[in-house]
Amino acid sequence: MDTAIQQVRFQIAEIGALMYDRQLTDAGGGNISVRVGDVICLSPRYSGQRKRWQLSPEDVLVIDREGNKLEGKGDLSRETKVHLKLHNTYADSGTAVIHAHAQYILVFAAMNRSIPPVLEQTVKFGDIQVVDYAPAHSQDLADNIANALKGQESRISKQAAGAIAPWHGLFLMGKDLDMAYDAVERINTNAQILLMTQQYLGTNDYLAAERAALAAAMGKYEK
Ligand SMILES: [Zn+2]
Repeated sequence: MDTAIQQVRFQIAEIGALMYDRQLTDAGGGNISVRVGDVICLSPRYSGQRKRWQLSPEDVLVIDREGNKLEGKGDLSRETKVHLKLHNTYADSGTAVIHAHAQYILVFAAMNRSIPPVLEQTVKFGDIQVVDYAPAHSQDLADNIANALKGQESRISKQAAGAIAPWHGLFLMGKDLDMAYDAVERINTNAQILLMTQQYLGTNDYLAAERAALAAAMGKYEK
């Protein structure tokens, strides 16, 4: 097998373990995929439940762009539809897709609330919107997530763009796997900070005035 593909399978195994360790996903779900040319490397079904995200590179599946398995022992993840849809729709912009049950992002998913940026490091992602409800594993969910990223191609090609599936978690597409992982961690931290402001400052407007002031201040530096 192609060394570039082997390298990506190794990276997916490594990032999966890191995400689990950092509570960026859980035993119940999440998945990671990276397109290499015309094939897609994808974490297998039960990566969390049966392997606690301790994958070997050989566990990572290699599939074609229609979802046919080419290499690897396990079954396709049930969220493969979302991964395929994003790779096939936004192939010009990015190569990596992460679905994450990230601890603090899940609070917003549970409350059906978008995540506005409240740190300079997340401004580039804009508001992470919640899509209309569709059941996990459905084609409607794949379509809703893909629609939410429409118009955000430049965010994907610069780093990443994401959307929240209500009661479920984050779906995000990035320029590459490093960029996508970094975005998941940044958005989760942003969500945590928002929750801490509620706890410690007692605000309920997501620091609207402070964000407006920040946006105005940053606007002065935009070219
Ligand atoms: Zn999930």
